[in-house]
Amino acid sequence: MVDEVTVPPRDARTFNVPAGHIFRIVSVEGSQVGDLNLWNADDITEKFFSGKTRQLHATHLTTGDRLWSNLPNLRPLATITHDTLAWYGWDEDGAGVHDVIGTRCDPYTNHLLTGDDYHHCCHSNLTRALAEAQGISLQEAEPHIHDVMNVFMCTGFTRDTHQYFMKASPVRPDDYIEYFAEINLLGALSTCPGGDCGASHSDDAAQCFPLKVEIWKPSKEALNNWQPAKSSGYRGNHGVSTAND
Ligand SMILES: [Zn+2]
Repeated sequence: MVDEVTVPPRDARTFNVPAGHIFRIVSVEGSQVGDLNLWNADDITEKFFSGKTRQLHATHLTTGDRLWSNLPNLRPLATITHDTLAWYGWDEDGAGVHDVIGTRCDPYTNHLLTGDDYHHCCHSNLTRALAEAQGISLQEAEPHIHDVMNVFMCTGFTRDTHQYFMKASPVRPDDYIEYFAEINLLGALSTCPGGDCGASHSDDAAQCFPLKVEIWKPSKEALNNWQPAKSSGYRGNHGVSTAND
């Protein structure tokens, strides 16, 4: 292990993972959901593409699934290499863990639904963390915040009306999910103010806990000549011919 970052409750922190390294998001102290953003550390306009990842894999991710980046790069940013909650599978309500269907809690939706201002939604936590890490203003950072992977969160769609629901996360201290970095990554993790997301959201009612991010460096032999992921091979001319065609 070469680095570790603790994310305090109702807040977010960034972390760097060089290509070919591994990172783990670890449950500590109590049941807590984490909202994960990932960027290309060398160009943060390349970021995690939740919708395409859902389409290529499933509504919920586990070992072997990859987190893909936005167009025009469309390459794997990370591959999930271990998941201690894989046993959960799909429960009797059709729910699973680690979804890419919810977006992230945010103060705008909260204001729309309740009329209240709450400043520790995952969207705000991630915005503050990215602004601090990049040395940019909140206004500059905010457009880079994107739909998340909801780590440890337990969600599904109701069988009768196909509406989104969440229930208390089964995660317990020492559970973790592990990712292999396919390129140089900047990550940000928010400890959701919903805690285990079994009840309320976007307020200070739920009990919240920290999460830990561990960065691990594999041996050279283990990497076995592995190379970082390349951007999509599509040339990007969208059918308009150029002088080179
Ligand atoms: Zn949240």
